[in-house]
Amino acid sequence: MFNLAGKIAFISGGTKGIGKGIAKVLKQAGAVTIIAGTDEVRGEAIAKELAVDFIPLDVTDQAACKNVVDKIVEKYGRLDILCSNAGIFPQHYLKDMTVEDWDLVHSVNLKGTFFLVQAALNIMEKQRYGRVVITSSITGEITGISGYSHYGASKAGQLGFMRSAALEYAGQGITINAVMPGIIMTEGLTAFGDEFLNDIKETTPMRALGTPEDIGYTACFLASDEAKYITGQTIVVDGGQILPEV
Ligand code: NAP
Repeated sequence: MFNLAGKIAFISGGTKGIGKGIAKVLKQAGAVTIIAGTDEVRGEAIAKELAVDFIPLDVTDQAACKNVVDKIVEKYGRLDILCSNAGIFPQHYLKDMTVEDWDLVHSVNLKGTFFLVQAALNIMEKQRYGRVVITSSITGEITGISGYSHYGASKAGQLGFMRSAALEYAGQGITINAVMPGIIMTEGLTAFGDEFLNDIKETTPMRALGTPEDIGYTACFLASDEAKYITGQTIVVDGGQILPEV
């Protein structure tokens, strides 16, 4: 396990699923960990369960993203690690997709990433230190799923954003990378139903769905001092899902 003792880590969408898994692992690695989500009741309960702090945040609100980052710096003195993880994946087939459906997914997944990463970088630049880990997906950049063209575009968009941002901050002690999960068993995925999830399990080379902690360990590595020479990169964590040629 990489040592994050003394680091201040903030995870958007840390109250459920993958974000909760990241929070658990970063906390285990010694980071002072703060999680965020829009549901305050669940946020407070999960914060208690993980012995971390919670701050309510809707990542679609630019001023709120800036305020939350400022609050963290005011309380903890700095912000070392941002895991920009909050995301939604409502299914909409293209023939019926409305501009509202498209905008909502982009607003949370892509614009929310821009707002929060920009706010964190303003602080990290002053510190001349920072680790940003974005939760993207294999969907969009590598694979597609029917009903998820808006989602795939937003997840691939995060990677385009990440690569240019990484370049802009490469000389300042700041790294910006992304994790690309395959199918990870989270609360958000229960809507897909058992049949779909069992099918995925059977066709995944490792014959298992990923766990939130699998993404947590990857994020922990990218957030560590040992990963200091890695920036603008992606790591696929998918149990071999994208490997088969036939
Ligand atoms: P999840 O179980 O539904 O959890 C989503 C988290 O995001 C929750 O904490 C939720 O908290 C928060 N959130 C949603 N909208 C938000 C907003 N506007 N502002 C702030 N927080 C918000 O989802 P998940 O499966 O863990 O997915 C997490 C991330 O991993 C997403 O970016 C997703 O695209 C990516 N991903 C997931 C998988 C997978 O198989 N699960 C695969 C690839 C990529 P509230 O409900 O309180 O707002």
